[in-house]
Amino acid sequence: MINKEFSILNNNAPLWYNRRINGTERHEIFEGRTGNRNKSIEDGLVIFLKPELHRTGKYAIHKNPKYWKEEIKIQEIAERRWCEYYKKTPDDFLKRYGRNYL
Ligand SMILES: [Zn+2]
Repeated sequence: MINKEFSILNNNAPLWYNRRINGTERHEIFEGRTGNRNKSIEDGLVIFLKPELHRTGKYAIHKNPKYWKEEIKIQEIAERRWCEYYKKTPDDFLKRYGRNYL
């Protein structure tokens, strides 16, 4: 059980932060399938967002997932970073998360 919160993504302020700063909320990048949310947390595939980009604003990831998927390509960035950080392949990613985003 990992208690310490961490992110392997590069910081991309002010869009997202890779550590919890005042007023931000943690978002798990892969959370759709059963277990993926916990894997995201374990692997550091989380980002920290201001509430307006997490839940409340027009471009919030939970209100406008299409924008984050297609314009920002957050899942693609996360999968790439996961492979790089853990020295794994997209096939390893597929096995762990159930699909690929590259
Ligand atoms: Zn979220």
